[in-house]
Amino acid sequence: MKDSFGRKINYLRVSVTDLCNLRCKYCMPKEGICKRDHDDILTLEETEEIIKVFVSLGIDKVRITGGEPLVRKGILDLISNVGQLEGIKDLAITTNGLLLKRYAKDLKNRGLNRVNISLDTLNKNKYKEITRGGDLTKVLEGIDEARMVGLSPIKINTVLIGGFNDHEIRDFVNLTVKDNIDVRFIELMPIGEAQNWAIENFISNDIVLDKVRELMKIKGEDPSSPAIYYKMPEGKGKVGIINPITCKFCDYCNRVRITSTGKLKLCLHSDDEIDLKKVIREGKDLKEIILKEIYNKPESHNLEEGQYIKRNMFEIGG
Ligand code: SAM
Ligand code: SF4
Repeated sequence: MKDSFGRKINYLRVSVTDLCNLRCKYCMPKEGICKRDHDDILTLEETEEIIKVFVSLGIDKVRITGGEPLVRKGILDLISNVGQLEGIKDLAITTNGLLLKRYAKDLKNRGLNRVNISLDTLNKNKYKEITRGGDLTKVLEGIDEARMVGLSPIKINTVLIGGFNDHEIRDFVNLTVKDNIDVRFIELMPIGEAQNWAIENFISNDIVLDKVRELMKIKGEDPSSPAIYYKMPEGKGKVGIINPITCKFCDYCNRVRITSTGKLKLCLHSDDEIDLKKVIREGKDLKEIILKEIYNKPESHNLEEGQYIKRNMFEIGG
């Protein structure tokens, strides 16, 4: 499957719910969100059908996300069914890790390959503060369990927030030294709840290289990854730097997204969406429509000009 710029599209990110068991301050409103009507959300059968069509068109990498994917009822069955599709080479999930201790083994047994865990602080009280009530111990236990059952390499995604976790950068980097864990620092984006945050909260990822001078750039990494990877001298894992705003990896972009309401998003940073739920419910030819739309994937985002999307991250899945 190629778009009009010749980019091969082989990566699909699928959000299975908007709901979450946390309310991270930059992502979810304080009061949480209202549950959508059942009918607004793709059923797991519809989700599976859409993924199946994408895989038949050349998608070989699928990531399940949310909201929090592990709170969606039936998630293990979806993982099993997607994992069995011929053509899937990589099936992963992005989670806050709270339920990972409970689910890691089952996820592995059902065919999940890898897990990304979002974690912005290693301090118990600060974790509770930023997530509005989350228990860090549960996440750390989840990470251990995931490693034990072989959901590897484990990637920890850390959103850098000025004045909140910038002094923890070295602690996060140190996680990559003794274990095969990758840590990726992501710049906070002014979308969703973070739209009105103070300018001091938005810091450049350059701070990571300033604070940890020993980091060495790794050559020859996959250009379709948004991260630039580094390594500590004796490190087992890698340190990734993701600059969503300043770094344009659009030329190598290989991904598209599906929201839990069945909207196909060709670019994370565009408000344009195609309603695949309608297509599937009206019995139209999903394959034909997907192929046509993929061809129209936009060339690049316009974040430098301050054009941010209206949707929240919990609706898209990151
Ligand atoms: N609940 C899961 C989790 O937290 O991993 C999956 C969904 S969450 C929306 C996906 C990612 O989006 C998380 O790593 C989160 O930190 C990130 N995110 C949410 N809002 C963001 C923002 N304004 N800027 C940067 N990253 C954001
Ligand atoms: Fe939930 Fe993930 Fe958003 Fe935090 S970042 S509120 S865990 S969806």
